[in-house]
Amino acid sequence: MTDCIFCKIIKGEVPCTKVYEDTSTLAFLDIAPINPGHTLVIPKQHYETIMDIPENLLENVTKTVKKISIALSKMSDGISIAQNNKKSANQLVPHLHFHIMPRYKDDGHKFTWPKEEYKKGEAEKLAEKIKSLL
Ligand code: AMP
Ligand code: ZN
Repeated sequence: MTDCIFCKIIKGEVPCTKVYEDTSTLAFLDIAPINPGHTLVIPKQHYETIMDIPENLLENVTKTVKKISIALSKMSDGISIAQNNKKSANQLVPHLHFHIMPRYKDDGHKFTWPKEEYKKGEAEKLAEKIKSLL
């Protein structure tokens, strides 16, 4: 993808603060961190979402996610991981990436959303629908 900012980072056309790299993945600091050390992990090949990437490559990405999580956990109190797919889910950069965010006791960040309830029978119907889409 020629106009993808993360592809440009991989090609060295745009600078990044690299944390780790192997043959198929790259980890670098997010330019606008939620907390210091907030790292992005990406595949070196361009795939837009988790739905698009082949499983074997996703496996490599998740191995790097774990490696970075372990490192960041040694300098923080906890780790949040986020991964947005598509604009309606707040994906701003259309190149698959995982956010690995070091968390600190009382850092004040909230990862919460309104807790809705299912009507009677609704959960079972939805589970059936999802199963039919697998
Ligand atoms: P998302 O909303 O999940 O697509 O997140 C995209 C993330 O990429 C944001 O947290 C941005 O701060 C980050 N970002 C965008 N451009 C760069 C860049 N050139 N270097 C590092 N991080 C970036
Ligand atoms: Zn890309």
